[in-house]
Amino acid sequence: MKKWSRLAQIASILCLPALTWAQADRWQQRAEYQMEIDFDVDKDQFKGTQRLVYYNNSPDTLTRVFYHLYFNAFQPGSAMDVRSRNLPDPDGRVGARISKLKPNEIGYLKINKLTQDGKELKHLTEGTILEVTLDKPILPKSKVVFEMNFDGQVPIQIRRSGRDNAEGVDYSMAQWYPKMVEYDYQGWHANPYIAREFYGVWGDFDVKISIDKNYVIGGSGYLQNPEEIGHGYLPEGQTPKPAKGAKLTWHFKAPNVHDFVWAADPNYTHTSLKRPDGLTLNFFYLKTERNQDNWAALPKVMDKAFTYINRRYGQYPYQQYSFIQGGDGGMEYPMATLITGNRSMPSLVGVSVHELMHSWYQMILGSNESLYAWMDEGFTDFATQDIENYLAGENLVPGLKKMDNPYLQTYAGYFNLASSGEEEPMSTHSDHFSSNFAYGLAAYSKGAVFMNQLEYVIGKPALDKGLLLYFNTWKFKHPNSNDVIRIMEKVSGLELDWYKEYWINTTHTIDYGVDAIESDGNGTKVVLKRVGKMPMPLDVVVTYKNGNKEIINIPLDIMRGAKPAESSSTPYRVAADWPWVNPTYELRLSVPATDVQSVEIDPTVRMADVDRNNNSRN
Ligand SMILES: [Zn+2]
Repeated sequence: MKKWSRLAQIASILCLPALTWAQADRWQQRAEYQMEIDFDVDKDQFKGTQRLVYYNNSPDTLTRVFYHLYFNAFQPGSAMDVRSRNLPDPDGRVGARISKLKPNEIGYLKINKLTQDGKELKHLTEGTILEVTLDKPILPKSKVVFEMNFDGQVPIQIRRSGRDNAEGVDYSMAQWYPKMVEYDYQGWHANPYIAREFYGVWGDFDVKISIDKNYVIGGSGYLQNPEEIGHGYLPEGQTPKPAKGAKLTWHFKAPNVHDFVWAADPNYTHTSLKRPDGLTLNFFYLKTERNQDNWAALPKVMDKAFTYINRRYGQYPYQQYSFIQGGDGGMEYPMATLITGNRSMPSLVGVSVHELMHSWYQMILGSNESLYAWMDEGFTDFATQDIENYLAGENLVPGLKKMDNPYLQTYAGYFNLASSGEEEPMSTHSDHFSSNFAYGLAAYSKGAVFMNQLEYVIGKPALDKGLLLYFNTWKFKHPNSNDVIRIMEKVSGLELDWYKEYWINTTHTIDYGVDAIESDGNGTKVVLKRVGKMPMPLDVVVTYKNGNKEIINIPLDIMRGAKPAESSSTPYRVAADWPWVNPTYELRLSVPATDVQSVEIDPTVRMADVDRNNNSRN
């Protein structure tokens, strides 16, 4: 690396706090939902009305709009059913179950009347997508009001939502209402629901749910009428007004979110914890002999987790979060999660932390998960390992052990994928991966490695800064893969496009080796070799026979800079750039080869080198 570029880089890092980065200025649509739901727990059906104020903030004139009707996926012959039966490795929860549903077990959303500013509209239901032809085009920078009536039936629990889940929760109401499809700078995203990922329009939800008064509801948003409801929402000692009829009407408001979830059961135990910062944590579960101790211990652990997460990943912006037993594993929603609840304590904490972290990477950042599942699942997984390790270090969870490297399993998952012959680029649309195996390991493991390996490339101080700047710059927007890498370029002063292009858009792998350690005049020549196709900067640790160690960083020429020292305990220096086209590199040491004990590439094991056998030499 040249001296001037090093100086420029140091200058840019020193100036960081004084600079303000340009704010994200991408336009986005807005949706304000008002819904009233009349729920019949005997028939597992509901009638709904929806008033939607839709803001077209785009520069485009819209002649059609689309809604998601997710419940229609749970019908024999649906896209989800067919896809599941044709995947080589179907999700065991789906399999062929949809194909066997009887009429009273399927899910549906039937749209009756739909109007635009009072004028009735033509619409066509095609599976899980409602296609709507507009009466009048929606002009740029204008708004319209859509009103509709609909009938719904809650399917038997198959995937994520439904009735009567495996642990006996009556209603897991996720993806349950007609939801406007997002239109953004990449156009409409009217993807049929086949069980994978989600994307939604930012907006406000005002939801009234009338249901049998014995039922307890947990969900997104803030309950507006606790004095009529009770059920754990009133302060200790206060009792609700007596209900007038057989039903209670629950009124929720959820501002600035892109979805709304709820779950209901007459036997929920509802506890809560109010934090000093004003945030209320709610817990809903079906108490059993086996699970009650774990659910009683969970609030204290999640309270600690919130404090740590707010500091490292950015401040949680809402006043409520609900951990709700329901669903079929763990699934994230705004201000809430549905998780299965009969678990060991480490497992209950693990799923709670993971789904909570989605609030940062999906519910608040709101990337298009279908296109960038790794920015949600991967970054969430990256944070989950870190937070669990923090909680383990605090001895808060019996059975949870602190690890030196919490990412070993994550890397192992990626190596499994890379060696399988079935890897597809992470840029593949989630719905279109050829197997759940390739999708899952790409989105979760390779996505998490993206972030931990980036720490290796730019250094921990820069990555820590980048995590916060990314969140604060892009919250309540829809960042894409370029947006996150640009943040990391800004905090590091390094050019990182190559890292994104290789890691996201290709399946090329990383493999470096130490080829030779030879005498070279009075000094030593270390020959390093790039075996894999993906270029990377190298951390090389040289151990001398006198016991001294030295870390030598070899930047790539295309980074236009180098990582600063990450720790002060071992001497650190930056060697000349490795031009990325060169298959080999000669590193010169000033001492004779007889003084060198060993040379090792990537001693911190953060580079996803697929063959570590050639990484060190004596
Ligand atoms: Zn997840």
